[in-house]
Amino acid sequence: MVGSDDATMFGVGIKRLDVVRTWKELRSLRRSATGTLDEVQTIQMPRLRWMVDHAVRHVGLYRSLFPGDAARRLQHPDDLLRLPFTDRAVCRANPIAELLSSDPPPGSRRISSSGTTGEPSEVLYSPGAAWYQGILALRRDGVRGLRPWDKRCEVTSLREGPRRSGIWELLDRRFMRVPTTRPPALLARDVLALRPVLLAGHGHLLVELGEELDGAFRPRYLVTYGESLDGVTSDALVDLYGQRQLDQYGTAEHGSVAWQCTAADLYHIDHEAVLLEVLDDHGAPVPPGETGEVVLSGLWNPLMPFLRYRIGDIATLADRPCACGYRLPALARIWGRTMDWILDSRGRWVAPQRLWIDHHLERDLVQGVVRRYHVRQDATGAIRVLVLPYRDLPADFANRLQASYRRLLGQDAMIEVVPVADLPLHPSGKFRRFSSELVRSRDAWQSESPATPW
Ligand SMILES: [Zn+2]
Repeated sequence: MVGSDDATMFGVGIKRLDVVRTWKELRSLRRSATGTLDEVQTIQMPRLRWMVDHAVRHVGLYRSLFPGDAARRLQHPDDLLRLPFTDRAVCRANPIAELLSSDPPPGSRRISSSGTTGEPSEVLYSPGAAWYQGILALRRDGVRGLRPWDKRCEVTSLREGPRRSGIWELLDRRFMRVPTTRPPALLARDVLALRPVLLAGHGHLLVELGEELDGAFRPRYLVTYGESLDGVTSDALVDLYGQRQLDQYGTAEHGSVAWQCTAADLYHIDHEAVLLEVLDDHGAPVPPGETGEVVLSGLWNPLMPFLRYRIGDIATLADRPCACGYRLPALARIWGRTMDWILDSRGRWVAPQRLWIDHHLERDLVQGVVRRYHVRQDATGAIRVLVLPYRDLPADFANRLQASYRRLLGQDAMIEVVPVADLPLHPSGKFRRFSSELVRSRDAWQSESPATPW
């Protein structure tokens, strides 16, 4: 989950005030969100075919990776399964010219991903793709009942953009973007001065801000993004702000991908902008209700297409409609990154969400006790759980956590629980809850792709 701080939040990128085009597109998005899966696929498939054809013709990476007539063979969404995967490593192995279809035209937008997975990297959006991100944000805001002029405050790792003029300057005054490096006390002062309708940021930063605000201000909308939320963070946010946060999921490469409506239930997917697959370890689609790896194909950015892109996140596909009535395929949960898996003492890889400590300990041992924690596996396989507590850990905290982890990871797993005075954040402002020096070998899936060759 990288770089989602960006294109997903604000309707930036609308270079001209193209009201008619924007209004038409919004109306069509409203229609497709209430339509059937078939109707959505009749929007997706022509766009996908066009994008694949364009990529094979004009983008070096896809010219060498995809068959020349790939677009013609894409008749049904399942046909996509036959195309090889791409991922960040593949893209990084190529010079940027091999990833672009042309020189960036004027009005293109440059976005840096935060690089929690390694080096920060750059993504370029065509003017049309940047515009479409604005449309998606307007649609999402509309579904949530947020109006374009409502005041917002976003705690972001993004650098401030250039000053804008005219109506945009007026809107900018209502949208405050505060860097993640700002101390919570100053942040609280900013928020109290602006009193935004919507307050957004990484979950753990909103927790720190909420502690500082101490009930002095509660926004109408609390929005989180950019990291997977565990129960510790969610419960703390409910305590501090008196409401369940609305989470959203996006990537630097694709922009907005999925988000929760005000029912705070499932994640609605931006099907019109991105084709989202959830795949099992063999590269086959998981059935509804099951969990797998997220693979994304962007439908809107011809300048720098990301097709069949393994973003490295794990998600669960919903097996029911959202509480709001939304019936299209949706995500029930976004779990975080595949790279954070932990190796157990029997040599099996354990998904990080199975180590969330609120799944292992009673609520009263965690809530109001644990502020943040980090599970770190070193090269010998030993696991250290670093806990930043609010107060002294209860006497049986460490023993209970060790015992519960051993039931999951094996009785001879080496587990140490260490209270710490500080847990530093990644420079991007994100917080990595899990890390392992044992890199998960995913060659089974990586080298076998595509699952079904043409
Ligand atoms: Zn909903």
